[in-house]
Amino acid sequence: MSLEKLVEISNRYGSDLEYVIAGGGNTSWKNDEIMYVKGSGTELGTITGDGFVKVDLSRLDAIWSKSYSEDVDKREEEVLEDLMASRFPSEMKKRPSVETLLHALLPFSYVVHTHPALVNGITCSRQGKDAIDRLFGKKAIWVPVTNPGYILAKEVKDEIEKNTAGGNDFPQMIFLQNHGVFVSGNSEEEVDGIYKEIFDAIRPEVGSFPAGKEIPVEADSILAVESIVKSSLDDSLTVSGFANQDILDMARSEKDFAPLDLAFTPDHIVYYGFKPLYAQSLETLADGIAAYKEENGVNPRLAVIKDLGAFAFNSTATQNEKSRLLFLDDVKVAVYTASFGGYQFMPEDQINFIRNWEVEQYRASLSR
Ligand SMILES: [Zn+2]
Repeated sequence: MSLEKLVEISNRYGSDLEYVIAGGGNTSWKNDEIMYVKGSGTELGTITGDGFVKVDLSRLDAIWSKSYSEDVDKREEEVLEDLMASRFPSEMKKRPSVETLLHALLPFSYVVHTHPALVNGITCSRQGKDAIDRLFGKKAIWVPVTNPGYILAKEVKDEIEKNTAGGNDFPQMIFLQNHGVFVSGNSEEEVDGIYKEIFDAIRPEVGSFPAGKEIPVEADSILAVESIVKSSLDDSLTVSGFANQDILDMARSEKDFAPLDLAFTPDHIVYYGFKPLYAQSLETLADGIAAYKEENGVNPRLAVIKDLGAFAFNSTATQNEKSRLLFLDDVKVAVYTASFGGYQFMPEDQINFIRNWEVEQYRASLSR
């Protein structure tokens, strides 16, 4: 059974922190008529058959020949409506992944979309496009940072058409700037093989690898941060503290902190906010929080304090754990980008788009 196989592949990739964390990534399986695609609010590591949404490929295909409103918001609404209408009657309680249209475009049985830190070390770097062109040539396409949903799928569609019009094979690697990679193949082995090819090609290019080992944060520091956070923000918040050598190095000064100052990918925004707070010391944390709120109009969800480490603050320990994993991922990405011309954050308009994006918020609310 192919759905069973899809669940198996999804659980395997989803349980490997090298590929995806928390609700990140999505997968699908299709034949000529139907596709099973990951539902919103599910996590690949634990997804079951019920977490996938069965959609009608001919209805999704019809989206490309329809004309939609010129107004961006209105158009997204209309496309979303058509996307929802592609569900089979048994699926009406589920919501297909926002990347469903993109999955449907790829003429392979399996699509496994992930956000590996190693890959994002390239997609979030200044020379990312050059590196992908050099390493993979026509086997891959590079998609500049784009609004998720219809626009992203359209951009990929155009790039693929350009690529195949030149007589090239259909690209089975699609690299999305400041986001991740889509790999497609007609079997599990083919997908695994392409991922291996990607990792094997990138690793030798890396000059310095991220720090692996976590360094414990003293309980006293965590308590001190918690009391400041509770009095400055919300009494119900709970704090978790963590560190490694890279975090401590980048926390030395405002300047060293620059590569961590804004978000690299949508996942980072969803799980700990678009911008971590940097503080020189515990003593300046309360003022830092006040200034952050004033400047950004939202509460910070994660602070990095010189000599102490990183502190995630959310309402639950589960949320803190997700923030921790995603921030550790962010730090890894920052380290990898040094081998590819240096870091490049998501553009500010994209950050705002994601911050305001109803669908992402829906996902975040479900993953809490
Ligand atoms: Zn993604």
